[in-house]
Amino acid sequence: MKEWYDKIKEAQSVESIEEIRISVFGKKGVLAAEFAKMKTAPNEEKSKIAQDLNIHKSSLMNEMTARKIILQTQELKEAMKAESIDVSMFSVSSEAGALHPVMETMDRIVEYFSAMNFAVKTGNMVEDDFNNFEALNLPKYHPARDMQDTFYFKDEMLLRTHTSPVQIRTMMSHKPPIRMIAPGAVFRRDYDLTHTPMFHQVEGLLVDDEGKVSFANLKYILEDFLRFMFGDVEVRFRPSFFPFTEPSAEVDISCVFCKGEGCRVCSKTGWLEVLGCGIVDPNVFEAVNYKDVSGYAFGLGVERFAMLIHHIGDLRSLFEGDIKLLEQFQ
Ligand SMILES: [Zn+2]
Repeated sequence: MKEWYDKIKEAQSVESIEEIRISVFGKKGVLAAEFAKMKTAPNEEKSKIAQDLNIHKSSLMNEMTARKIILQTQELKEAMKAESIDVSMFSVSSEAGALHPVMETMDRIVEYFSAMNFAVKTGNMVEDDFNNFEALNLPKYHPARDMQDTFYFKDEMLLRTHTSPVQIRTMMSHKPPIRMIAPGAVFRRDYDLTHTPMFHQVEGLLVDDEGKVSFANLKYILEDFLRFMFGDVEVRFRPSFFPFTEPSAEVDISCVFCKGEGCRVCSKTGWLEVLGCGIVDPNVFEAVNYKDVSGYAFGLGVERFAMLIHHIGDLRSLFEGDIKLLEQFQ
C-alpha cells in the first residue's frame, strides 16, 4: 500500500487525486482486492489483516483529503491570477474612422438640397449616346462634344461624362414638375494637377410650368447654397456657354484663401470659379417631350469644393489613399 502514499504526495492536480481515489477505493480498486485476498488467508491472521487494511483505508483517505485541499487552493490561485485584469498594461487603442473629404463634401451638398426639397437621384455609370449627349443638345459631330474627352465602349456605349443623363432619364420617366439633384461619379480622359479620370459631380434640375422658373430663382438658391458651403463669401455670375442651357453662367466666389485680395490659387483675380448653371435649353425639353415648361440647371465638381473647403492643392492627392494625408481632414 505504501506506494499510494507516495502517489498522493506527488499528485499535481485535483484531477489526479480523483484518479487515485478510484484506483484505491473503487469497486475494483486496490483496497477491495486486498479485502478479497483476506478471505483466503488463515483464520488467525484475518483480524490482523482487516485491522491493517482499515488503518490504511482511513489514513489514505485523510492524506488524499489534505492533498486535495492544497491542490484546490493552488488551482484557485492560479485561475484568479490568469483571469485578473492587469491595469498597468497599456492597451492598443483603435483609431476612429472618418469620411473621405470628397464624401463628406458630397454629403453636405446633398444635405443642403434635400432640405430644399430636391429629390436625390442616381443613375448608371455606363450610358448611351442619347442620354449622355444627344438629348442634352449635343448632336453627333457637335464641336462642343470636344469639351468632354469621353471613354467609349463598343456599340456607342460610354462612361458618363457628367451626371446630366440622370436628369434626362428622370424627365423621360416622370411628368413635371421636377426638383432633383444627381450626385455621383463621372469619367473623362484627363489627368493633371486639376483633373482626374474619375471625379464626382452634383447636378441639379428644377422644372415647372412655363414662366414659373426664372434666372432670379436660380441666382437666389445658388447664392444661398454657396454661403452654406463656404460661409460669408461674395458670389458673382459670369456669362458662359453650355450646350444644355441658354442663357448660361459660370459662378465665382470670392477667394477663400486670400479673401479676394489676390493670391496664387485664384491667379491674383480674387475669385474662384465653383459651378456652372443656366436656364434649360428648349432643345433639351424637346428631346424629352416636355411642353410648356421652364427650368434651371446647375452642376458642380465635388472634388473642387472639397479642395477649397480643406485647402488642398493637388486634386490627385484625394485619390492616392495616403492615410497620413487623409487623417488631417478628420
Ligand atoms: Zn486668392
